[in-house]
Amino acid sequence: MSTCKACCENQGSEKKRLRIAIQKSGRLTDETLKLFKSSGIKISANRDHLLAHAENLPIDILRVRDDDIPGLVMDHVVDWGIVGQNVLEETTMQRELDGMPTGFNEVLKLNFGDCRLSVAVPTEHEWTGLKDLEGAKIATTYPHLLKRVLKQEGVNFKSVLLTGSVEVAPRAGLADAICDLVCTGATLQSNGLKEVQTIYTSKAVLIGRDQELYPEKKAIADLLIERFKGVMSAEESRYIMMNAPKAKLEAIRAILPGAENPSIIPLEGSDDHVALHVVSREKLFWETLEQLKSLGATSILVVPIEKMLG
Ligand code: ATP
Ligand code: ZN
Repeated sequence: MSTCKACCENQGSEKKRLRIAIQKSGRLTDETLKLFKSSGIKISANRDHLLAHAENLPIDILRVRDDDIPGLVMDHVVDWGIVGQNVLEETTMQRELDGMPTGFNEVLKLNFGDCRLSVAVPTEHEWTGLKDLEGAKIATTYPHLLKRVLKQEGVNFKSVLLTGSVEVAPRAGLADAICDLVCTGATLQSNGLKEVQTIYTSKAVLIGRDQELYPEKKAIADLLIERFKGVMSAEESRYIMMNAPKAKLEAIRAILPGAENPSIIPLEGSDDHVALHVVSREKLFWETLEQLKSLGATSILVVPIEKMLG
C-alpha cells in the first residue's frame, strides 16, 4: 500500500511541533526574537521565510503580519501567537461581527510592546472631553475599540477606516480627528495634531488556541512558559552587592525594593561591617542607591541577571 510521505510527516509534526505565529517585521519583532533567543530557542536567521524551524527544539515559527496572528490562533492554524492586545481585541470584535470563531487562551502577558491608543485633534481645537467628538469623522485602524469607548460616553461618530498614515487624515480633509497608537507624540505634532485622550493601553501577549495540546506539544509548551517567565523576571531583577555597617542592616533591608532574604557574609578584618548580597525583583532607582550610601553602605554594585529559575 502506498502512503503519502509528505502528508504523513505533516500529520506527525502537527502532533509534535509547537507552531508559533510572530510578527514578520515590525515593532514586536525584535523583542519577540530576543525573548526566544534568551529562552534558548535557536531559529535560522533568514527572515524572508514564512516558516522557520527551531534548530534545537520541536518548534516552528510562522512569520506573518501582526493583524493575521489572532485569526491564525482562533482558526487553530497555529498553537500560539504573540500579538499586541490592541490588535487582539480589535480583531476579536471584528470576527464576532463576521460570525467567525473567537476562542483563545491568554497564556502569558509579555513585558514589551507597551503602547497607547489615543484620540488626537488639530492643535487649535480647545478640547473639553470626548463629547467634543459628537458627530465627528474619526480616522482610525481600531474602529471597534474606539466605538466601545465612545458608546459608553454616549457619543455618536463616524469612523474612517485607515490602516496606515492615519495621522495625515485631518490635514487631507478626510477626518476631524484621529484615534491612533501613540509613542512619543512627535508624529502627531508634525501633522498639526495634539493627543487629547488615551482610550486604551496595550502590551504584547502570548495567546494560545482554545484546545488541549497533544501531550508532546504540551510538554514543550510548559517548558517554554517557564523559560519565558524566567527571562522576564531576570530582566526585571538585579543582583545587588555592598559592604554595610552591621548596625544599619535593618534600615538597609527596609529600603531594598522587592528583595529576598539577603546573604550576609563576614568581612575579613572588620568587626562592624559585613558584605550583603541580595536579589531584588524590582527596578532599582538612583534614589535608593543614594539612600543606601547615606546609611553607610560602600562598594555598592548592581548587576543584571541573565537567567533565573525557581
Ligand atoms: P504589520 O506589517 O505586521 O501589519 P503594523 O505596521 O501593523 O505591522 P507595527 O507598527 O509594527 O504594526 O506595530 C505592531 C504592534 O506593536 C502594535 O499593534 C502595538 O501592539 C505595538 N506597538 C505599537 N507602537 C509601539 C511602540 N511605540 N512601542 C512598542 N510597541 C508598539
Ligand atoms: Zn498590522
